[in-house]
Amino acid sequence: MTRCIGRLTLAVVDLHDRKTQPVTQLCVAIFVTDPDQTRRDIALAAEAGADLVELRIDTFDGDVEALVKSATLPVIVTCRAEWEGGQSTATDEERLATLARVGTLAAYVDVELQTRRKNPFDRSPFGRLILSAHDFAGRPTRLNNLLTELTDSPADVCKVVWTARTVRDNLEAFEILQTRTKPTIALCMGEAGLISRVLAKKFGALLSFASLDNTGGTAPGQISIHDMKRLYRWDAISATTRVYGVVAQPVMHSMSPALHNAGFEAVDYDGVYLPFLVEGSYESFKAFMESFLHAPGLNLSGLSITLPHKENALRYLTEKGAEVEDLAKSIGAVNTIVIDSAIQGPESTIRNPSLRGFNTDYAAILDCITHALGIEREALKDYRVAVIGAGGTGRTAVAGLAHYGATVVVYNRTIERAEELAAEFNGRSGKVVAASMEKLCQSCCQIYINTTSVGMFPKVDASPFGDAPPDLTPDTLVFDTIYNPIETKLLQHARRFGAKTIGGVEMFVRQAAGQFEAWTGQPAPRDLMRRVIESRLQRAS
Ligand code: NAP
Repeated sequence: MTRCIGRLTLAVVDLHDRKTQPVTQLCVAIFVTDPDQTRRDIALAAEAGADLVELRIDTFDGDVEALVKSATLPVIVTCRAEWEGGQSTATDEERLATLARVGTLAAYVDVELQTRRKNPFDRSPFGRLILSAHDFAGRPTRLNNLLTELTDSPADVCKVVWTARTVRDNLEAFEILQTRTKPTIALCMGEAGLISRVLAKKFGALLSFASLDNTGGTAPGQISIHDMKRLYRWDAISATTRVYGVVAQPVMHSMSPALHNAGFEAVDYDGVYLPFLVEGSYESFKAFMESFLHAPGLNLSGLSITLPHKENALRYLTEKGAEVEDLAKSIGAVNTIVIDSAIQGPESTIRNPSLRGFNTDYAAILDCITHALGIEREALKDYRVAVIGAGGTGRTAVAGLAHYGATVVVYNRTIERAEELAAEFNGRSGKVVAASMEKLCQSCCQIYINTTSVGMFPKVDASPFGDAPPDLTPDTLVFDTIYNPIETKLLQHARRFGAKTIGGVEMFVRQAAGQFEAWTGQPAPRDLMRRVIESRLQRAS
């Protein structure tokens, strides 16, 4: 079978028929400065579960042979020239001579394609050769030609690496891996390229790179071996693994990958959850969806949608005629997409993905409250609720509570926003009125929900109640949607009065659990998810 990438036609390697294909290896890249440190780093890499190490000897002028001989893991030796993004100022001849000396000792030697162009050789004088091309500015303009040249060369391994301009560049890296005729490494650098590093294993790359720790690694976007293995489930990934992720900008701060991947691991589910960096516009969101939904072999199966894309997701699903939950429509925001990839082609191409959108944020808010009060949602009609804030989360709370008939008072700094929200939801099922923040402390509500950012890290001494908090009773429920800090000043105050309290972690876990259950059909391990978030927040504070 053949397939075209642009003008390049290559034999397709069927991902499901690669029984003899070695499993993708995980390589820790080590920048060599002194031999003792390097040996310690190799030992640490082995301990962390690396299959091999890349020794970057760009600036090392010691005994490379001795270093390679003493290595306890197979070694790739690389002496990257400055003009290819490395640090070596040596001439090509000097670098090639060094590599030739260790070529037969190392598992592989990495030489730049550009170096071979300037110093042609027909057979590899280095043992097993990786011929590589890097572009730090973006996708190489002549990527297809580059691939042909690498494929036709005497290299044992073709390596092409570039900085992802958008998350969609990763798909081209996957296509390169799927159409390879030689062992291949195809990776995207930068934050948007992270997924290519993790999914290299799904698409059968020869290897992917990781750093030893979180101090940056040897290339932009390289993540630590710990994160690769623990956070992104490297060992569990195979061609059949379903892909999930959070669509956001920014995205790297998100705790959702830690939460969902821990959940997948706990229930032994064949899935991996990744951060998808997608720029804020509707066009970028749509382009992401259109390309990722139909990417061969990807098995994109579910998405969490967060800032700034929740409205974009609703618009996209509506345009596609997809099924969208009614309350998500009235909130105007979708935070969860389920992708049912019922029709799988021979190369697991999703031919006709069916999409469903809903909002687990409002469900999480309602369930936090009903669980704390020991009531059903229908009983909310007997409650008077103060929703503090009229932004996205405030709107979500108001829509959910009003739907179940609660009486809601919206308090907001900008009273006009509270009034607009009240006017929109008043009378649908429950009663919704607006009030200014100054009136909050005279409120006689039974439930208070803070949906503003007041009290959030780093301004942890602030509270929506200010310095004159109202008297609360043990029957009052105070719910702060903020999760950092875990216990806000508002909650501390409520606890002192013996009021019932709910923190933002609970909401976060419940909205994630709703997604997890919709995707996997299995109960979410909520206690584990809670522990994962709390330990991340504690480490960050
Ligand atoms: P948003 O749309 O930007 O709304 C922010 C709200 O906070 C607005 O009502 C705004 O009032 C108010 N506000 C901001 N600064 C204020 C100040 N100094 N004094 C008084 N009011 C102020 O934000 P969002 O997306 O709704 O998020 C709001 C909060 O919800 C965040 O703290 C976030 O942590 C929390 N959240 C939690 C979860 C969870 O799972 N636990 C999920 C989502 C969000 P104006 O209208 O006057 O600007």
